[in-house]
Amino acid sequence: MPKVLQIMARNEKYILLALGGNAFQTKGEIGTTENYWKNAYRAADTIVKIVKEGYKVAITHGNGPQVGVILEWMERSKDRIPPLAMDIAGAMTQGWLGYLLMQSIHNTLIKEGVKDSVKGVVAIVNQVLVSKDDPAWQNPTKYVGSYYDEEEAKKLAAEKGWVIKKDPRGGYRRVVPSPDPKANVEVGAVKKLISEGWIVIASGGGGIPVIQESDGTLKGVEAVIDKDLAGEVLATNLEVGTFVILTDVDGAYLNFGKPDQKKLDVVTVSEMEKYYKEGHFKAGSMGPKVLAAIRFIKHGGKKALIGHLKNGYEVIKGESGTMIVPD
Ligand code: ADP
Ligand code: MG
Repeated sequence: MPKVLQIMARNEKYILLALGGNAFQTKGEIGTTENYWKNAYRAADTIVKIVKEGYKVAITHGNGPQVGVILEWMERSKDRIPPLAMDIAGAMTQGWLGYLLMQSIHNTLIKEGVKDSVKGVVAIVNQVLVSKDDPAWQNPTKYVGSYYDEEEAKKLAAEKGWVIKKDPRGGYRRVVPSPDPKANVEVGAVKKLISEGWIVIASGGGGIPVIQESDGTLKGVEAVIDKDLAGEVLATNLEVGTFVILTDVDGAYLNFGKPDQKKLDVVTVSEMEKYYKEGHFKAGSMGPKVLAAIRFIKHGGKKALIGHLKNGYEVIKGESGTMIVPD
């Protein structure tokens, strides 16, 4: 292990920060270039505040809304330009959002007069390994891309071999599997960059899902990996002390949405596991965040935090959000 990392290992001041899909496209926004920059600078503000307090930060982010946009572009122009595969769309979003973060963090570091406290900011295109034997392949659950009527949906299913299901939000949509992330392929490069003082943006959108053949070669697959679960794999591998998940709700709740809902404050990993098993956290949204937090602590992490993006700084200081700690 590089020397700097050894010193930082499991240090609470060494953070992996996961930004939710809403970090870049907030509710009610149509997603203009201006919207994207404004939101990137908002995230950069939080990140630079943390850097100023002597924290080392690596960043990951969601990409649901952006993959949705790319799939729709491809759908609308398919008569002229052949649509590309989903793994390629995922790679595009890593460049798209990685660039926004790189530049906004770089500029904010300059504005705040702390540019020299880091080597620089870099986003890497990142593959994440999933298993060919994952049970998720038998049961695709993640809705992606455009909405179709029933007839169109049936045609596409026959033509492309897609699995199409009725989306509770209306219409028919393609569903893809969401296999469990096993390893971050480029983690060695991420570690090296961080140990040399770079702020690194990695595992964007949960990483580009790939499977490994017996000869070691990799192949992209049509799936999506949950970014919080992939974030945990990265956080554990980097041996950060703190894993922070910022989203659009101010913490994890028991009985969420019911009159007796209760926000969790500081919870031990065993308590959280009990609540998780009781089904308090919805699959596909809060569920994977809580599961990622549980895994992180069980893998030796010191604290996992879940909170609202707009209070990012307070969440990291432990003044807002839900904190999951070892027993
Ligand atoms: P992100 O894009 O940040 O990953 P998600 O939409 O996947 O955001 O997850 C956040 C959402 O989880 C919240 O907006 C909230 O509606 C939902 N949610 C489901 N169960 C809970 C719960 N028990 N406590 C808090 N939020 C929950
Ligand atoms: Mg999510």
